[in-house]
Amino acid sequence: MSRSQQLYQQACQTIPGGVNSPVRAFNGVGGTPVFIERADGAYLYDVDGNDYVDYVGSWGPMIMGHNHPAIRQAVVDAVQQGLSYGAPTAAEVTMAETIQSIMPAMEKVRMVNSGTEATMSAIRLARGYTGRNKLLKFEGCYHGHSDSLLVKAGSGMLTMGEPTSPGVPADLAKHTVTVSFNNIDEVKAVFAECGEDIAAIIVEPVAGNMNCIPPVDGFLQGLRDICDQFGSVLIFDEVMTGFRVALGGAQALYGVTPDLTTLGKIIGGGMPVGAFGGKAAIMDHIAPTGPVYQAGTLSGNPVAMAAGLATLTLIQPAEIHQTIAEKAEYLMAGFSSAAKEAGISLATVTVGGMFGYFFTEAEQVTSFEQATQCDVERFKKFFHLMLNEGVYLAPSAYEAGFVSYAHSQQDLDKTIAAAAKAFATLAAQ
Ligand code: PMP
Repeated sequence: MSRSQQLYQQACQTIPGGVNSPVRAFNGVGGTPVFIERADGAYLYDVDGNDYVDYVGSWGPMIMGHNHPAIRQAVVDAVQQGLSYGAPTAAEVTMAETIQSIMPAMEKVRMVNSGTEATMSAIRLARGYTGRNKLLKFEGCYHGHSDSLLVKAGSGMLTMGEPTSPGVPADLAKHTVTVSFNNIDEVKAVFAECGEDIAAIIVEPVAGNMNCIPPVDGFLQGLRDICDQFGSVLIFDEVMTGFRVALGGAQALYGVTPDLTTLGKIIGGGMPVGAFGGKAAIMDHIAPTGPVYQAGTLSGNPVAMAAGLATLTLIQPAEIHQTIAEKAEYLMAGFSSAAKEAGISLATVTVGGMFGYFFTEAEQVTSFEQATQCDVERFKKFFHLMLNEGVYLAPSAYEAGFVSYAHSQQDLDKTIAAAAKAFATLAAQ
């Protein structure tokens, strides 16, 4: 038995399912999870001495690669000063100013400790600001695990085949209206019925929790227009896309400005950080300026701010995002031609440094329905074949992949060669 298998068995005795976040348990692909000892650059190293080219990147934060020396040093320097004060610091001001300079729509910003907290707080604010209860979200989009948002959610919820989590009161879930991603007509139909009651639309501007699905032309602008018409708040959940699909996120890439934005992952450089922000007129409704309560003992934590600021400094040169996008395109072009050669039907997509691949006959996947109709059994086999070749892909057919700046040409070529071998094996089965 491997050390990972031993640790997993041991973990299952004291940790539910052996993990602290469900998708890590490999329940989407079968088998037992790999336990990680350390990570560096584009690589993960497990407790059995295996190494893997990593395309999960801690589910997003590691855009510059693991254990980047400048980020590590910033954390070490911050730690020398103390770990947490529960009082304001200069680093928080710099962080808010830095976010605002990169995303001008974030006129005011509040730091929190996770993406879940960011979206939960943004929704409370939108409800408090508008005095309305209803929320419109999209099937297969995941916005963290707060009650209002665990209705027909993506990510681990999809992997487990649970549309809505037990424990979410029906009285609350009834305020969340769910429609199809990329279908503006459905959105219009819901607003025609109850638009005056809708506090907010929340959307992943590029869906990354049902694999990777970009918005179709006009979809995001359509949401903007309808929110303007009905006085609803448009929330872009850029926890995944922020600083990734472009430096300024999806709002810069697609030229559509939300009222509120939620951030996470990259903004913490690997530390537990999230943020929400947007129009000053809305943000000023948050306590202590306004009546909508929101707070956090560790929010704006100095060590987390140091890691986040170091990351945001590193990613600002234009070359960074261009290079990451090229790497992702190269990788997916390689997957695509290798699959074709083996006679395997595969659709691929990239948006900046985010990528997706679908085992499907379709040329493009634009909807939740299509994403869930892909060949999941084939995906599971592919995942394990790649893992055996030293490539760590997201262990679920419903997660986007991430390329970092640290992935070298050699790493990408190694990955494509492994994929070619895996496709040939799949074709022979
Ligand atoms: N929103 C999106 C778009 C996400 O992808 C995630 C996490 N994958 C979240 C919110 C929740 O973030 P966290 O896991 O940090 O709570």
